[in-house]
Amino acid sequence: MKQTIYKDPVCGRKLNRQKAHIAIDHDGITYYLCCPRCQREFEADPQRYARPELGQKTPKAK
Ligand SMILES: [Zn+2]
Repeated sequence: MKQTIYKDPVCGRKLNRQKAHIAIDHDGITYYLCCPRCQREFEADPQRYARPELGQKTPKAK
């Protein structure tokens, strides 16, 4: 099975979905963060860290 690697937009670390600390949904994109610290950073200033190309487009709920 192919593993998709995502990049933590805060610290730039590469992680796969299983290893990620948390997935955060922002503006229709899911971002994977490696640790509580990056989570706090991201939540404090999502505009600054949000990069659609680093996350995964969230499937639209029907
Ligand atoms: Zn991180």
